[in-house]
Amino acid sequence: MSEIAPVLQVDRLVKHFPVSRGLIRRKVIGMVRAVEGVSFEIARGETLALVGESGCASLNPRMTVGEILAEPMAVHDLHTEAERETRVGELLDVVGLLPEQARRYPHQFSGGQRQRIGIARALAVNPDLIVCDEPVSALDVSIQAQIVNLLQNLQRRFGLSYLFIAHDLAVVKHISDRVAVMYLGKLVEIASKRDLYERPLHPYTQALLSAIPRPDPRVRRKRMLLAGDVPSPFAPPSGCRFHTRCPFAQARCREDEPLLREAGDGHRVACHFYETLPAPSIAAAAGPAAGKFVERLAAFEAAKQARTPTVIPTS
Ligand code: SF4
Repeated sequence: MSEIAPVLQVDRLVKHFPVSRGLIRRKVIGMVRAVEGVSFEIARGETLALVGESGCASLNPRMTVGEILAEPMAVHDLHTEAERETRVGELLDVVGLLPEQARRYPHQFSGGQRQRIGIARALAVNPDLIVCDEPVSALDVSIQAQIVNLLQNLQRRFGLSYLFIAHDLAVVKHISDRVAVMYLGKLVEIASKRDLYERPLHPYTQALLSAIPRPDPRVRRKRMLLAGDVPSPFAPPSGCRFHTRCPFAQARCREDEPLLREAGDGHRVACHFYETLPAPSIAAAAGPAAGKFVERLAAFEAAKQARTPTVIPTS
């Protein structure tokens, strides 16, 4: 961890959602344990990727883009009305859109442009930290690369920190400094990007990474397939939550919950036996899926190298 004070420090965060039943007299019958004792920190200018469950956010279809961007400033009582109007134009310019597009509605923009509007809205209150919840998952690969480039440019320009929530490990590899992996509401591994991709210690992380085919047809390594589905967060398994699917589970794993432990250089992992597990096979076998992935990765790389257009025409 950096010696400079982090911009975000999360300490044993717990989030449970009540589940109720009954039409007239609703009764809480249990809790969905969405987040359970999660701790991490994010330094200034750092991107921490969280590989886990997604949330959702949308732009209000009844508001113009100008109103959408001005709203957070009004809520935080920032600027006069005239200043907000000027700021809306500046924000659109910063994310590569035209100030005059402020009068349009969200449906008049493409998916990539709507993501730019979402980013502009987050920038409206001059944040230190932005939570990017699946910011590129619905976009095609060239637009994904443009948004990732935009986020990285803005990070350099404004010293922003990002909490980047995503499922796509190829995108995560491009944008993150560190990666945290969650399973059933628990943090199971956290490490620098390089360490996590080269030396994954938790079997769940190993399984996730083994699903990424290597862009080298000569590399043929075994994919680690997990048995069964993810158990319900309504009634998570005892002990290690991953034990029902872990190929290395032992009797202790059913009873004793593993804590997140330091494994060197800030790499932390929650597994009783990580030191004695076999070396991971983190590249999948070549095949049709591999070909598709390699194609996609190459397209992403190419699009990322290409110069991001300042203004993207409305579709
Ligand atoms: S603690 Fe046991 S079940 Fe959990 S990941 Fe490690 S080996 Fe697998």
